[in-house]
Amino acid sequence: MEKWVCNLDETHVYKQVTKTGFCEKCEGILIKKETPGPIPPPDKEDIYDGDHGVGIFVFDLSGSMSDLTDPQSDSPLTKIQQVARAFSSTITTLLYGGGKELTAISQPDNYFLAIIGFSERAELFTINPLADMKQNNREMTFQYWENWILEKFEDFGNLTNITAGLEKARIIYDIALAKEPNRSDLMQNLPDNIKEYEDVLKKLDLNSQSITAGESMFRIPNIRVLIYSDGEHNVGDLKNPFKDRYLKAGLKSSEGTPTNGVMSIYFGSASDPGAEQMRSIAGYCPQHGGVGYIPISKLEHDKYLRDLLHLTSKATGFCLLCSNHKL
Ligand SMILES: [Zn+2]
Ligand SMILES: [Zn+2]
Repeated sequence: MEKWVCNLDETHVYKQVTKTGFCEKCEGILIKKETPGPIPPPDKEDIYDGDHGVGIFVFDLSGSMSDLTDPQSDSPLTKIQQVARAFSSTITTLLYGGGKELTAISQPDNYFLAIIGFSERAELFTINPLADMKQNNREMTFQYWENWILEKFEDFGNLTNITAGLEKARIIYDIALAKEPNRSDLMQNLPDNIKEYEDVLKKLDLNSQSITAGESMFRIPNIRVLIYSDGEHNVGDLKNPFKDRYLKAGLKSSEGTPTNGVMSIYFGSASDPGAEQMRSIAGYCPQHGGVGYIPISKLEHDKYLRDLLHLTSKATGFCLLCSNHKL
């Protein structure tokens, strides 16, 4: 049976998601819970002991992102402005720190961020260490990345090809996770737009962190993917290229949702068909049983958008509940 819980109070439980996606008893947002699947045996050795982490952002840049985030409010903020602000705030926080809750990343040279945009097509815009995203100071870093996203958004297209965005992300994901000689094989036939980043991709060398699922402890490689969209996929059939990807072989919910480090956000009402599509893409959190998905349609829930961006760029979580529990 479906079960949705409030991120602020897990005693607020719903059999189905509310129309808005938010808790009706408090300010919380609803997280889909699934039951744990069988726990796979731990690996004999840690296979990811490199230096790096990788966050892959997949941004919907279709024209409808210029619609208002919260048309019921008086705010003129558009969805793309909200994303640009949340993204630049995340980058700034990771580089400079942001109060007691959000600390700066200790080794920004070792965290690589890839940014992919999609509409009817998808493009890898950049992949670089977080340290390279720094501008002269905090304010300039914030301004730079906010403007950068808004500029990429100009005339990028109008359709929504979620599959194309995810396929680009999976190429990077697979390369980052591959060991030689598999990695060299994967590097053989890179599409043009990814080939230009070949030198960076060759350098990726993932570290991993311990997590507990049930009684077992696993090392999970530090790679996460975050995708958001504000509409239904409308270019061919929707395919999820991450549905057979795992960060630890066999780790999944009993509903079959893999722990693959994918998180998703839907901008709009939780009862839209596009919301269910985005939810179906998200991976399973073995620590909280949550699915890494949230719907956003209110300005007040901006902080959840930032929380997920933050979890992705530090590779520290799988679902929104992870940001309460500090990994
Ligand atoms: Zn609640
Ligand atoms: Zn979690």
